[in-house]
Amino acid sequence: MSAASPLPRSPVPPPLRLVGDAPPTPGTESVAPGTPPGVLRSLRSDRLSTFRTEHEVPHYGEFETPEQFLELRRQAEAKGLPTYILGNGSNTLFLRRTVRSAVLRNRLRQELRDLGDGRVEVSSSVPIMRVLRHCEQRSLTSFYFLASVPATIGGAIAMNAGLGSGPTILDFVESVTSIEDGREVVRHQHEIERRHRWTIFTGVHDRLITKVVFRFEPTSFEESPIRERIDWARDHQDLAVPNCGSVFRESWGPILRRARALPPWGLRWPGFRAQYSRKVNNWISCRSRSSLPVVILIRAVQLAHLLVGRRARTEIIQVR
Ligand SMILES: Cc1cc2nc3c(=O)[nH]c(=O)nc-3n(C[C@H](O)[C@H](O)[C@H](O)COP(=O)(O)OP(=O)(O)OC[C@H]3O[C@@H](n4cnc5c(N)ncnc54)[C@H](O)[C@@H]3O)c2cc1C
Repeated sequence: MSAASPLPRSPVPPPLRLVGDAPPTPGTESVAPGTPPGVLRSLRSDRLSTFRTEHEVPHYGEFETPEQFLELRRQAEAKGLPTYILGNGSNTLFLRRTVRSAVLRNRLRQELRDLGDGRVEVSSSVPIMRVLRHCEQRSLTSFYFLASVPATIGGAIAMNAGLGSGPTILDFVESVTSIEDGREVVRHQHEIERRHRWTIFTGVHDRLITKVVFRFEPTSFEESPIRERIDWARDHQDLAVPNCGSVFRESWGPILRRARALPPWGLRWPGFRAQYSRKVNNWISCRSRSSLPVVILIRAVQLAHLLVGRRARTEIIQVR
């Protein structure tokens, strides 16, 4: 760890500002009107996960400053609740209709600061696409392979998001700043332990990534790398129905390939309306309002692995 300093205090919470390229997410949400950030309240929503399943969250809070995050954690701890840091929910599966965890949504002010020489400082709430547009306009290298991923920078760093078995977003990182035990900690790239779709931040909800410094190199393009990746995703991924991308980070191919026939009537099966994608391996499409069908599909594949002595580990983060 390179630095640990007391958390700087910001006297006035900045106003919520939604900028960037992420389109507004469609769906329904009901919450007590006028509840300020930094306060736990109850929420019913189908916008917390890109599976678009609907959940009651009796303990939901949004934070615009690190201080508000710490206050929300304190409130959750006082109630004896586990916490869950939510980015854009594109890798998040809520297991039950009523969520037990306190769900803390990252609404830190979205900032992107050009530091010169290809270095950029970005807050963790910024959508991936905003960074990619910045790089493309300046002819810089970047993680264009994530142009099809509807993630926040914080979620992508926490998950070490990347190509199947190639480069990841962490390859472009100079340093990551996080809040841990009420203190600000700065780690340089080589100090961040990581594996396939895992880092020291994955599923650890007392470490909030607040900002990241990236370093990009000058390059040139014949075509827009963002456009190229989006076109590739349209042709090769299954984007028509709500999903969370790849389901497993470790699995056995023959089982996953057979799972693509499950269940036989797939999305059309009344009362189920979820299936392993017929188009893409390791992908679940979901039209159900309930997350139970997704949970059943995941457990079925895990059971099949168990029966043949193989291991299936989910990439999707499961929240109780
Ligand atoms: C259509 C589609 C395509 C996808 N393609 C890819 C792909 O090509 N490659 C790939 O790797 N993934 C892919 N994914 C999966 C997903 O987008 C990534 O895992 C992404 O990094 C999750 O970001 P998020 O902001 O949505 O995180 P969330 O789902 O909200 O959270 C994921 C994890 O990150 C943690 N987290 C989020 N923000 C923070 C923070 N600020 N501080 C600490 N922890 C935090 C959460 O607690 C959780 O553990 C895809 C998903 C979809 C829907």
